[in-house]
Amino acid sequence: MSDCPFCRIVRREARADVVLEDDDVLAFRDVRPQAPVHLLIIPKRHVDSLAGAADGDAELLGKLLLAARDLARREGIDATGYRIVANRGRGAGQTVFHLHVHLLGGRAMGWPPG
Ligand code: 5GP
Ligand code: ZN
Repeated sequence: MSDCPFCRIVRREARADVVLEDDDVLAFRDVRPQAPVHLLIIPKRHVDSLAGAADGDAELLGKLLLAARDLARREGIDATGYRIVANRGRGAGQTVFHLHVHLLGGRAMGWPPG
């Protein structure tokens, strides 16, 4: 989508601190980090949220999680623990309507989230 901020990052029309890229997936640092490590992992193709994913996107969705696994190792938060979050809808806190998985780590986290 032309006006989607994350599509603009995919197209390199907007700057981001990219930490991983392959044919299908892009990961970059959140501009307002909520933890010492806070990455966003997105499909390069625009999908508005998990609700917009199709059954045929199973492999793509799996790639997002495997990217989170690999990045957690690389960022050194695997042993101490990390959280992955995908907000769907404004009521859940979604503000950017391009599917993304948050990877948060490097500090203690409470449960349940507020
Ligand atoms: P949501 O609230 O939709 O689950 O998460 C959106 C996240 O994207 C927020 O944590 C916000 O800080 C981050 N964000 C919004 N716009 C940009 C941007 O242009 N660049 C980067 N790197 N992060 C962004
Ligand atoms: Zn998009």
